[in-house]
Amino acid sequence: MRTAVVESLCECQARLGCELDEQRRAIRGWARKRLRADHAPAITTGLSAESFNVGWACPFCGRNTLRSFDTNALVYQEKPANPSVPPASRAAARSSVPTNG
Ligand SMILES: [Zn+2]
Repeated sequence: MRTAVVESLCECQARLGCELDEQRRAIRGWARKRLRADHAPAITTGLSAESFNVGWACPFCGRNTLRSFDTNALVYQEKPANPSVPPASRAAARSSVPTNG
């Protein structure tokens, strides 16, 4: 099974992520904010040959966040049979702190 991941930012600055199958259906969604991570229900809508929308229910602020993506920007990767460690439980990456301002 091949899947692709799209990411965007919520208005509350949570980082939203969604894994898609080859029909661009949302398999799962998640949200991360600072060191917290949570499940974020995600759906895809507006599927066309060139673009589609992903809608998230942000667990941090409760907004329904809709973002459009270019189909050509999707990068599909083979998903291993054994479920890998979900992104939410990976060690948090170093956050990029702005140095000026
Ligand atoms: Zn949010």
